[in-house]
Amino acid sequence: MEEYKRTVLYVEDNQLNMALVYHIFKRNLPSVLLLKAETAELGLGLAREALPDLIILDIGLPGLNGYEALEILQQDETTCHIPVLATSAFAQASDIERARKKGFAAYITKPFQVKAFTDTVKRLLNSED
Ligand code: MN
Repeated sequence: MEEYKRTVLYVEDNQLNMALVYHIFKRNLPSVLLLKAETAELGLGLAREALPDLIILDIGLPGLNGYEALEILQQDETTCHIPVLATSAFAQASDIERARKKGFAAYITKPFQVKAFTDTVKRLLNSED
């Protein structure tokens, strides 16, 4: 039986990115349980319920977008301490600057580079306790 040491929630509407990240976790972060949500609305519910160690949040989502979802997480005392990693295809310096100011712990641009992605996730999981 597998024993998971950490839990990460990934909120992503794109199936290809979801599959890629699933495989990255399987391969590089096998002790992490990956929870998945296709919308911010579903992700917010799962975040409150599971209290993951890290949330990876796509910016471009149907319904609430990543910025709106982050604000709700920050306003909820049960989830405000969870670091949130933003992912987006928008890679301008101004996008990254905006994300930092809003309170995202880090920003990863798509398409994902596996090594950089894995390193960032590990850093955020380890810096937390
Ligand atoms: Mn998206």
